[in-house]
Amino acid sequence: MYEGIRSPVIHTPKTINEFNTTILRYPNSQIWAGGTYIMSQEEYYPSDAKDAIIDLGGIEEMKKITRNDRFVEIGAMVSASQLLYAGKLILPEILQKTLQTLASQIVRRQITIGGSLCIPEVRFALSTTLAILDASAEFKYYQGGKVSTHWVPISRMYDKTGKLALGAEIALMTRIRIGLDHGDFHSLSTVEDPIRNTDKCVIFAFQANRTQNSLSKVQFCMSFPTKAFYMSKDIESKLSSLTLPIHPERVNTISYELVAELKKQHSTITELQLERGRRMFESVLHKLNSKTLQA
Ligand SMILES: Cc1cc2nc3c(=O)[nH]c(=O)nc-3n(C[C@H](O)[C@H](O)[C@H](O)COP(=O)(O)OP(=O)(O)OC[C@H]3O[C@@H](n4cnc5c(N)ncnc54)[C@H](O)[C@@H]3O)c2cc1C
Repeated sequence: MYEGIRSPVIHTPKTINEFNTTILRYPNSQIWAGGTYIMSQEEYYPSDAKDAIIDLGGIEEMKKITRNDRFVEIGAMVSASQLLYAGKLILPEILQKTLQTLASQIVRRQITIGGSLCIPEVRFALSTTLAILDASAEFKYYQGGKVSTHWVPISRMYDKTGKLALGAEIALMTRIRIGLDHGDFHSLSTVEDPIRNTDKCVIFAFQANRTQNSLSKVQFCMSFPTKAFYMSKDIESKLSSLTLPIHPERVNTISYELVAELKKQHSTITELQLERGRRMFESVLHKLNSKTLQA
């Protein structure tokens, strides 16, 4: 009756070095952080392809948050709620806002930073925000019995459809680093629940610097969770040369340029998502204008 059902082997390394030894010995293992995404998949029990679990929960060095004058470092096993709690004074406001949008308080205790950024095929708010904050992630790569370490900008961790694009090697994210030099204007907006209405959802993160009446260092990222992870150097640099307030006609033309780029690069985005993305973009530029006029 129970033929075919078996318990997976669970490895519980206590240090990154122990993890390295384990993964090199059992390269087909499933890396397990909070487990919230893995357990939501239809066949999460180890299959023929993934014959064991490596639980990262015992690796204390991946649960640290440290800060110096220039950056904050956050271990990949820090949970969303731990970071929110610890980070009130040290995190950029947009990142705090992002963490608050992740699921419910209870689920936030389980979701880890590494798990959130390493979901293979869907992009949510954390990847979107960290991409515009110029954050990077440290990865250990395992190939040919060897371990190597690389820092990867979070904006380059994904392909244009939002899939994790770290290459064929096994990779472990150990920590992320976020610089503390940010623009003075930030905005994060999300339309629709990214889990329940993934195909209708749009997530938009934006930051810029306002010096006197000119806009500089504009960075933005728009995610369509299963379809696109969109950043545009071209539109960022067009915005970065504008004077504030931006003329409403220019707001309009540039938002249609964004739509034209999105259509060209991402044919799977629906008309509804495109229109939502355009309106979110316009609304941020209007918000920038009104802040300028209030100052
Ligand atoms: C009810 C519910 C609602 C949610 N709502 C939202 C939401 O609104 N917005 C949002 O952003 N998220 C939301 N989430 C969370 C999101 O869907 C994922 O479940 C979560 O981000 C995964 O984090 P985890 O730590 O549980 O990762 P896991 O499920 O353990 O792992 C996820 C993937 O990352 C890999 N992985 C994990 N850690 C590492 C690492 N350090 N290095 C390399 N690979 C790693 C795993 O192998 C796996 O493939 C929600 C989850 C639930 C259950």
